[in-house]
Amino acid sequence: MIDYISPLPKAQDLPSFPRRLCVLGATGSIGESALAVAADHPGQFEITALAGARNVTRLAEQAARFRPRYLAVLDEGGAKELKGMLPAGYSPEILHGPGAYVTLAALPEAQVVLSAIVGAAGLPPTLAAAQSGKVIALANKESLVLAGHLIRRACRESGAVVLPVDSEHNALFQSLAGHSGDDVDHLILTASGGPFREWPAADLASATAAQALKHPNWSMGAKISIDSATLMNKGLEVIEACWLYGLPQERVKVLVHPQSIVHSLAAYRDGSLLAQMGQPDMRIAIAYCLCYPSRLPLKIAPLDLAALGTLTFREPRADDFPCLNLARQAVAESPGHCVALNAANEVAVEYFLKDRIGFTDIARAVSWALDRQQGLDDPDFMTIMEVDQATRSAVAAYLTGTT
Ligand code: NDP
Ligand code: MG
Repeated sequence: MIDYISPLPKAQDLPSFPRRLCVLGATGSIGESALAVAADHPGQFEITALAGARNVTRLAEQAARFRPRYLAVLDEGGAKELKGMLPAGYSPEILHGPGAYVTLAALPEAQVVLSAIVGAAGLPPTLAAAQSGKVIALANKESLVLAGHLIRRACRESGAVVLPVDSEHNALFQSLAGHSGDDVDHLILTASGGPFREWPAADLASATAAQALKHPNWSMGAKISIDSATLMNKGLEVIEACWLYGLPQERVKVLVHPQSIVHSLAAYRDGSLLAQMGQPDMRIAIAYCLCYPSRLPLKIAPLDLAALGTLTFREPRADDFPCLNLARQAVAESPGHCVALNAANEVAVEYFLKDRIGFTDIARAVSWALDRQQGLDDPDFMTIMEVDQATRSAVAAYLTGTT
C-alpha cells in the first residue's frame, strides 16, 4: 500500500507557467543542470532566487544571466565579494548564513523550490519550503533521511507538494502514477554499483578518493559520488523511498543494473513490473519535477535500445559494501538511528575525500555510530540537530583516534 508523502494536486491547481523558481544549491551539479533546463526553455521559468555557498564566482555568473531578485551565500565575506561581481544596474537582495537559505525557501514570490544543497545543511530550508506550502523539487535526499516524518507532517498541514528529483524515486513516481497504491507489492531501486562494483573485496581497503570519484555513468558532486562507491547512496535512497512512499524497508529492494538505463521499477501484485527508462542524465528528472505534470522537449539523445543490446541486473554485493545494510538497519531501528547514520557518513566521507581515512573506514565509522545511538521514534527538529552534531563530534574523535 503506497501512502505518498504529500498531497498531489490536479494540474490546474499547480502554478501556471512561467513558474517562479528558487534554486538552492544553484552552483552544484543538480543546480547547474536545472539552470541549463531553464536556459533552454525561455518563457517557462522565472528565476526568483539563487543560492550557492562558497563558489561565489559561479553564482555571480548565474545571477548575471538570470537576474533573480534574491541571492544567498554561506558567509558575510562571500556576500560582499558577490556584490562586487554583479553587473552595473543590477542590485538584488543578497542574504548570507544558514538562515538565508530558510528565508529563500519560504519566499512568498517563489512557487517552486529546488532543494539541491548537499547534506544535512539542506534540511532546514527543505522543511521551511514544506511548512510554506511550496512545490518542492527534492534532490536533497538527506533531508528525508533526517526528518522524513517532519516533512511528511508539514506537507499534510500546508499542502506542500514533494516531487522527487533523485532519478530512482522520480522513476518510481512515474511508474506509480495513475495506479492504485493498493496494487503495489514492492519497489525496486536500481543501482549502478559504482566504480568498484567489479573490484575484489580485498582491494577495497586501498581504494583512493580519486578512484571513487570516477563514477561510471553519472556526473555528480563529490559527496554523492563517494556515497555511490560505498553503496551508502543506495542505502540513503532506501530510506528516502520509505518516507516518500510510506513503505517499510523490506518492501524496497535493490538491484545492481550497471547500464543505468532502467531507473527503478514498481512491482504490482499481479506480477507486472512498471519501470521508467532513459539516458542517465539528471535533466530528465529535474525538468519533470519543475514542469510537473507536463514534460519539456529536452536536448538529450534518444535512447537507442538496439544499440544498447543488453540490460543486466544482479543482486548487490551487500557483504563487501556494508553501507547498504547499515542504512536498512538504521531505518528499521528508529529515526534517531537514521540521523546518526547520515552524520557519521558525512564526516567519514569528508575525511576520505581529504585522504585522512581509507575507503572501508567509512562503513566502519557508520557502524560504530549506529551501535552507540539510542532509539528515538519521533524526534523534533532540535533533537535531530543535536543528534546530528553529537554524532559528528563523536565520529570525528573516533576517526582521529581520540576516542
Ligand atoms: P554538489 O556538491 O555538486 O553541489 C552542492 C551544492 O550545495 C552547491 O551549490 C554548494 O554550494 C551547496 N552547498 C554546500 N554546502 C552548503 C551549505 N552548508 N549550505 C548551503 N549550501 C551548501 O552536489 P550535487 O548537486 O551532486 O547534489 C546535491 C543534492 O542532490 C545532494 O543531496 C545529492 O544527494 C542530491 N542528488 C544529486 C544527484 C546528482 O546527480 N548530482 C542525483 C540525485 C540526488 P558551493 O558549490 O557554492 O559551495
Ligand atoms: Mg539516485
